[in-house]
Amino acid sequence: MTEWLRCMAANHETGVQIPILPFIKRGFLMKIYSTMSRKKEELKVISQNKVKLFVCGPTVYHDAHIGHGRTYIFFDVIKRYLKFIGYSVFYIQNITDIDDKIIKKAELSKSEPNDIAKIFEKRYLEDMYLLNVTSVNKYARTTDYIDEIINQIERIMARGFAYETSDGIYFDVKKFKDYGKLSNVDIKELENHREIEEVNKKNPQDFVLWKKRRSSSEPVWDSPWGKGRPGWHIEDTAITEYYFGNQYDIHGGGLDLMFPHHEAEIAQLKAINDKAIVNYWMHTGFLNVSGFKMSKSLNNFVTIRDLLKEVSTQSFRFFVISSHYRSHVEFSKEDIVKCEKALRRIKNFTKILNERNIYENIKPKEDIVYEPLKKCREEFFKGMNDDFNTPVALSAIFSFINDSKKDLIDDKIPMSDIINALIFFDEASIILGIDFNSELDIYKKDSCSEDLLNLINDVRKKLREDKNYELSDEIRDKLHDLGIDIND
Ligand SMILES: [Zn+2]
Ligand SMILES: [Zn+2]
Repeated sequence: MTEWLRCMAANHETGVQIPILPFIKRGFLMKIYSTMSRKKEELKVISQNKVKLFVCGPTVYHDAHIGHGRTYIFFDVIKRYLKFIGYSVFYIQNITDIDDKIIKKAELSKSEPNDIAKIFEKRYLEDMYLLNVTSVNKYARTTDYIDEIINQIERIMARGFAYETSDGIYFDVKKFKDYGKLSNVDIKELENHREIEEVNKKNPQDFVLWKKRRSSSEPVWDSPWGKGRPGWHIEDTAITEYYFGNQYDIHGGGLDLMFPHHEAEIAQLKAINDKAIVNYWMHTGFLNVSGFKMSKSLNNFVTIRDLLKEVSTQSFRFFVISSHYRSHVEFSKEDIVKCEKALRRIKNFTKILNERNIYENIKPKEDIVYEPLKKCREEFFKGMNDDFNTPVALSAIFSFINDSKKDLIDDKIPMSDIINALIFFDEASIILGIDFNSELDIYKKDSCSEDLLNLINDVRKKLREDKNYELSDEIRDKLHDLGIDIND
């Protein structure tokens, strides 16, 4: 890692503001696709230079799968990029630690819901760490915001948008005329959908804000409506209102959350405040297996921790950013292996750049004169500014490698631009969360067997030094039977 990257990485960790870089001033507009308007819109933030970002986090009752991994890697890149171009971004993710699914899992495994939630929250955070998803400022647990949730429900009721039944408090969807606008769902079509246990709703599409106690084994909190627990949608708006107020910039999540989850959130927000607004609703596409969305309910999922036993974090991140975040992607290990090869090409190139760099320390940046690098940098940022188009950004990098490899070997690139190129790869590393200037991270499995082999070699060496050739040869032969050949 160069000194410059270390400095930038330190900024990334500590939240120190990086000045707005010149390419923004050159008139590259940041555009974001808004699910609500169904078009790309210029990013206009509510308060100067600040972005308030909320992304739906996990319900902690099982290990996160790589479909979740894709979503969270992408929002990590979005946060990194916005920060890189000069915004101060506050990024919150909620953790749903009370839910029907958690209670059910606890019943099945004869444990407490709270213990299930704690275990899987810890495992989720470990997974995020392994994926190098480091940009979340605050993980907000639902059960830490029960007072805010109750308070918000009371206000929704006071304004006539919710009603009480024998089993809970429900949002009266007919009172909110824009319900269905985000997802383009015709709510009349949903008339026939009704969850069995919710027998007292006025209308089938009404959703629950507060669930009254249903069994003695479930966790409950006191409320004006007796003991109970929050519904799913209300936690997001209680948390966003607590940290951001009624207006914030971006709310993200997987496409499957658009209806009814995000639709319900909009209804709740507008019910407490007419002026409430979330400016950009962003949704990531599905990660499919044989054409079907990877999901817990279809049981066709691969967990993050299982995948990372076989492929490196960098290769998986590279696989994720090789497609546009809104597209649906078919998962295949072969494609991740292809991504690993592509990643090695970049790393081999930066290795040569580093060898050509004759300076001990990076010198202050001079203007780029080498055309292919100029073009690469421009195309890269143009892609990123166009709704975070990472495939375009990556192809700019590969075009640069193709166009300049010969010049690099023939020593035809000016030294100042060797350094500029290294700086560019540092920038790309920070933005994409993949260190292009390091060796490929080795899988744990491999490094472990490598260590073991070294250990066995050391033992055999000692044996031979003690003239115990018989045992040394026996170990060698047994290794041969296991398919491992070593030469003395
Ligand atoms: Zn959510
Ligand atoms: Zn939400």
